[in-house]
Amino acid sequence: MRMYDIISHKKYGESLTEEEIRFFVDGFTRSEIPDYQASALLMAICLQGMDAHETSVLTDAMLRSGDIADLSSIPGIKVDKHSTGGVGDKTSLIIGPIVASCGVPVAKMSGRGLGHSGGTVDKLESIPGLQTAIDPEQFRSIVRSTGIAIIGQSGDIAPADKKLYALRDVTATVESLPLIASSIMSKKLAAGSDAILLDVKTGSGAFMKTLEDSIALAQAMVSIGVRAGRRVMALITDMDTPLGKAIGNALEVEEVVNTLSGNGPEDLTGVCMNLASYMLLLADAAESIEACRALAEDAIKSGRALEKLCAMVEAQGGDASILKTGFPKAPVVSQFKAPISGYIAHMNAESCGMASLSLGAGRARKEDVIDYSAGIILEKKTGDYVTAGETLAVLHTSDEEKLCDALEYLSSAIAIGEAPPPETKTVLAVVSTDGVTML
Ligand code: URA
Repeated sequence: MRMYDIISHKKYGESLTEEEIRFFVDGFTRSEIPDYQASALLMAICLQGMDAHETSVLTDAMLRSGDIADLSSIPGIKVDKHSTGGVGDKTSLIIGPIVASCGVPVAKMSGRGLGHSGGTVDKLESIPGLQTAIDPEQFRSIVRSTGIAIIGQSGDIAPADKKLYALRDVTATVESLPLIASSIMSKKLAAGSDAILLDVKTGSGAFMKTLEDSIALAQAMVSIGVRAGRRVMALITDMDTPLGKAIGNALEVEEVVNTLSGNGPEDLTGVCMNLASYMLLLADAAESIEACRALAEDAIKSGRALEKLCAMVEAQGGDASILKTGFPKAPVVSQFKAPISGYIAHMNAESCGMASLSLGAGRARKEDVIDYSAGIILEKKTGDYVTAGETLAVLHTSDEEKLCDALEYLSSAIAIGEAPPPETKTVLAVVSTDGVTML
């Protein structure tokens, strides 16, 4: 078999055979296929696409390129959740403890922040002492004893994806539905859970900017997961505006605690209740989505979900007392005020994320060190009325010089108009093997 012929087949829009796809993935992972041939094939896939069978085979080849987590020693239906990334998205730290406190084991591997979007591992590491680099045996042991562990990617999960993603990043081949779907699902399937709930974001702060593209990505990922024998569903959720009020690691963990105490922002609480209910449904915790929702609500009302978060933090070596006493505050705090009176018509999530990143809450380069206290509290959100001079957002940083860039990003992010904007939904659709249900 020759790589030249595989590239040529895809260039002319033919479906690749299973042998051709495995030849490519195996050879590229072993560095036997050079980057220039891999790049040519990736570009041909971007332009010609892949059908559902090709996408499933590509996913399988990538997931088998490295370690596959074995969670069989943990009793019960293990359930995982994946978000396609966003700004202010701290949902894993809320719904993980809710679901685990209802008796469903959560064994979750999470990622770090990427560009304007935050990562659960960075948020967790703002808790003093908390470890996210945990070996597989200890990971399983914490899930067995505590019901939940959220760690960084351990071992050598999907190394083919790691190599391919790095190449896609520099060859303008990231934006391809089969390549994105197979990249995400290869890692999720290798992480070993029985059921996976996908939170596919849509809007200005998301990978997929339109509802149509987000639904297509969700359908592709659900199809891959189900073909691999897992229970998979997806919710399409809004990422046009940041989720909740807090952006930035320690600030977001404080918002997690507030939400688990029943005092979270309405949008964040609504999205989390939906995600937690569908995770519980996938794990057969109750027969209907309404019954699962009642379980999730009771987990918060009773305080059990917050207790579960504290137990997980302690099991991972963290100091859970900080969740009650509060985090150290950044030395520099500045207010961003409304330039005119009116309704907030739009709050661009990506620009808000860039504002937070420029305050020190994320990494502009891989080697950058995160300032855990940095970030933004949005005092007002889309649809709110503001008067000129009123505080819209409070910026937190350890470095006064960073304020200037952040303020520029924020002023470009927020549009104020005379009329209230149309109301938007936070959860837009449910995608399952039964089809797409618009909410
Ligand atoms: N996230 C991934 O893991 N892979 C992609 O291709 C895009 C987003």
